[in-house]
Amino acid sequence: MRFDLTDEQSMFRDAVAGFARDLAPGALARAHTDDYPWEIARAMAEQGLLGITIPEDRGGIGGSLMDAVIAIEQIAAVDPRAADVVQAGNFGAIRTFAQFATPEQQETYLAPLLRGDGLIAVAMTEPDAGSAVTELTTAATPDGDGFRITGQKIFTTHGLHATVFLVYVRYGPGTGNIGSVLIERGQEGFTFGKPVRFLSGEEWNPLFFDNVYVPKEKVLLGPGGFKKQIAGFNVERIGNTARSLALGRYAFDAAVEHAKTRKQFGRLLSEFQGLQWKFAEMKIKLDAAQLLLYRAAANADAGFPSPEETAIAKAACNRAGFECASEAMQIMGGAGFGEDSLVEYCLRRTRGWMIAGGTTEILLNRIAETIFDRRFPQGPA
Ligand SMILES: Cc1cc2nc3c(=O)[nH]c(=O)nc-3n(C[C@H](O)[C@H](O)[C@H](O)COP(=O)(O)OP(=O)(O)OC[C@H]3O[C@@H](n4cnc5c(N)ncnc54)[C@H](O)[C@@H]3O)c2cc1C
Repeated sequence: MRFDLTDEQSMFRDAVAGFARDLAPGALARAHTDDYPWEIARAMAEQGLLGITIPEDRGGIGGSLMDAVIAIEQIAAVDPRAADVVQAGNFGAIRTFAQFATPEQQETYLAPLLRGDGLIAVAMTEPDAGSAVTELTTAATPDGDGFRITGQKIFTTHGLHATVFLVYVRYGPGTGNIGSVLIERGQEGFTFGKPVRFLSGEEWNPLFFDNVYVPKEKVLLGPGGFKKQIAGFNVERIGNTARSLALGRYAFDAAVEHAKTRKQFGRLLSEFQGLQWKFAEMKIKLDAAQLLLYRAAANADAGFPSPEETAIAKAACNRAGFECASEAMQIMGGAGFGEDSLVEYCLRRTRGWMIAGGTTEILLNRIAETIFDRRFPQGPA
C-alpha cells in the first residue's frame, strides 16, 4: 500500500497549482461576488479542468476521480470560490448527466458545459422532501410523446445561473417510480421565486414547474432511475467532501502563517503551547480526513465511489473542515473574523456542507447500516 501520489498525479497536481497561482489576486473579491465566475470556468475549460472524469470520446479528459480531487484541492488552496467551478464541471450534476445521457442529449448539452459556457444544476430537494428525498412530489404526467412536470424545488445550488436543470421527478407512487428530466432555463411554465441568501453567501431561489412540457428526448432517467441517480450523486458528495477539507486546510494554513509572525506578550503566537496543541489537533483531523477522502476517490477509479466510503469520507471531511476553519479563526482573533480574510468565508462555506449533499446525521445513518449489515427504514413503523 502506498500513500503518495503517482508521478503522473504529482505532475498533474503541479500543473494545476501553477494555473491556480494566477487566480490568487482575485480570490478575495470572487468570494464576495454573487455572479457565477464564468471567466474562470472558460479558463479552466481551456486548461482541461472541466470534464476530467468524462471519457475523451465524449469531450472530456478521460482522467480519474482522484485526478478531479487533486484539481479541486489545488484550486481551493489558492481560490476557495473558484473550487466551485471545479465542482460544477466535474463532480456535480454534470457527472450523472454524462453517465446516463443519450448521445443526442450529450450532443446538445455536454459541449457548452465543458467549454464553461453552460452550467447544469441538480434540483432534488423540495419543501417537504429534504433528507427524505424519496418523498418528493414533483410529478411527471404522461402527455402524448412526453411528460408534463408540475412541482416545486428549493435550495438548488446555482439556481440563479444554471442554463439547464437536472430535475428529480416522480412518474408514479413509490421510490421505484422516481427518475429525472432535463429542463432548460426559459422553458414555458418554469419560473423562479425570490432569491434567499444562505449564511455561506450563496443564493438560491425556489424553482416552480407549472405544467412544463418535457419531450421524451429530454428524459434522463425513467422509472427505476433513482438508484442510478444516487450512485452518480456520490460523486457530487466527493466534491463537497474535497472542498470541505480544502477550505479547512486553507484556514489552517492562514492561521499557521499568522502564528509565525503575530506577537503578543512579547512572544510569537506559535510559541504558546496552548496554541501549538490546537495546531497539532487540527493537523491530525485534516490528515485523517484526507486519507478517507483519498480512499473513497482512489477506489472509485473504475466508476462511481462506494456509498459507504463516500459517507465516511464526507462526514469526516465536513467535520474536519468546519472545526479547523473555526479553530483557525479563533487563533487569528479579529484578524480572521473580518471579510478582508478568507478564513471567515471558509468557516461559512464549510458549515453549509454539513447540511448540503446529505446531512451529517443522514451519513451516520448510512454508516450504521453497513456496521449492522441491515437497512434501518427511517419512516414510521
Ligand atoms: C449549501 C447548500 C446547498 C444545497 N444545494 C442543493 C442542490 O444543489 N440541490 C438540491 O436539490 N438540494 C440542495 N441542498 C439541499 C440539501 O440537500 C438539504 O438541505 C439536505 O438534504 C437536508 O434537507 P433539509 O434541509 O430539508 O433538512 P431536513 O431533512 O428537514 O433535516 C433537518 C434536520 O433533521 C435531521 N434528520 C432528518 N432526518 C433524520 C433521520 N432520519 N435521522 C437523524 N437525523 C435526521 C437532519 O440531519 C437535519 O439535521 C443544499 C443545501 C445547502 C445547505
